Amino acid sequence: MVQSEPKIPKKIWQARQRIQPFVQKTPLIPSTILSNLTNKKVYFKLETANAIGAFKLRGAANKILSLSKEEQSKGVTTFSTGNHGLAVSYVAKALGLKAVVCVSNRVPQEKIDALAQFGAELEIAGDSQDDAGERCRELESKYGMTIVPPFDDQEVIAGQGTIGLELLNDLPQVDHCIIPLSGGGLLAGIGAAIKSVDPDVRISGVSIKGASAMSESLKKGYPVDVAETDTLADSLLGGIGAHNQYTLRMVREVMDDLHLLTEPEIRRGMSHMVFKEQVMVEGAAAVGTAALLEEKLEQPGESIVLIVSGKNGDISALREEQDQPLEDKKGACL
Ligand SMILES: *Cc1c(COP(=O)(O)O)cnc(C)c1O
Repeated sequence: MVQSEPKIPKKIWQARQRIQPFVQKTPLIPSTILSNLTNKKVYFKLETANAIGAFKLRGAANKILSLSKEEQSKGVTTFSTGNHGLAVSYVAKALGLKAVVCVSNRVPQEKIDALAQFGAELEIAGDSQDDAGERCRELESKYGMTIVPPFDDQEVIAGQGTIGLELLNDLPQVDHCIIPLSGGGLLAGIGAAIKSVDPDVRISGVSIKGASAMSESLKKGYPVDVAETDTLADSLLGGIGAHNQYTLRMVREVMDDLHLLTEPEIRRGMSHMVFKEQVMVEGAAAVGTAALLEEKLEQPGESIVLIVSGKNGDISALREEQDQPLEDKKGACL
């Protein structure tokens, strides 16, 4: 079977046009502290500035806006309780479409409240993520609702790729882009956009040591699952889908290197962002910073961009830590 290559770069340009009503260009700001530390020019691309506090708005908006009027009229559904669930809810509400987020009865109340705040209609289905997924597929087959996938979808990938276009526009001299990696929609999209213009820009992925399904799947060459762990970077948990069609292949093509971080390293990156840079982030958005601080990355180029992917986490875990190491703080003043 001859499979035609998805025309991702063109789709990214189309996405940029399409999502304009929902997505303003996000800020690119220099980090003086990290620039001094690394002797490079380090920038943050603040995806935290999106209306839902994370980049997932781009992919969800592009997917939903690319549906036909008839498809739209039947509504959309997802079983993501994280940033993707928020994004789908937000876009559907703005367009006046029905959106159902299927959740298991184990999902914590804060997540339910956050989803409700963005206009989601919630449906409690069973007591596992699998049950919630099952209910989504039922809504699709029985009522013709469209499932909006969180990453493995050409329109979703293209939507996330619009970040790459903004970057090339704001910083054409970019040498190196460091991207949080889970299902790979974010990295595949940005990587495709940037490499279609300049294949020499280095694309690095960063994820959780011992809990990166993408890392294991790349090693094996097919999708594998990994156990989940307790982490500040919970937006990076989850598999890549047993029938992954796009992101595994695209990540293999566009990613130059991958770095896996321990929990203390992620915590250090998040602390740095919140307390030193005064940039509000969730753990997943701080892994690029963490990788730089741990000097895990080879940095051949001059200009480095860290994708700061979202801010919808719980920072109370960090507050507890800040109260403890008084010695460290004294040391830092000397
Ligand atoms: C979803 C998400 C990621 C990972 O994106 P993928 O496309 O799944 O690789 C990173 N950071 C945040 C904040 C996210 O919500």
